[in-house]
Amino acid sequence: MKTWQCVVCGFIYNEAEGIPEDGIAPGTPWEAVPPTGPVQSVL
Ligand SMILES: [Zn+2]
Repeated sequence: MKTWQCVVCGFIYNEAEGIPEDGIAPGTPWEAVPPTGPVQSVL
């Protein structure tokens, strides 16, 4: 599982956690999440 951070707003997406409030289930890879802006991989 990777963690991604939006380089514009600082939003962090953790693949292991997903975004339950937005209907993104835990374990969903970033590639399957609708685009929210440019992101970079972070550890
Ligand atoms: Zn953003």
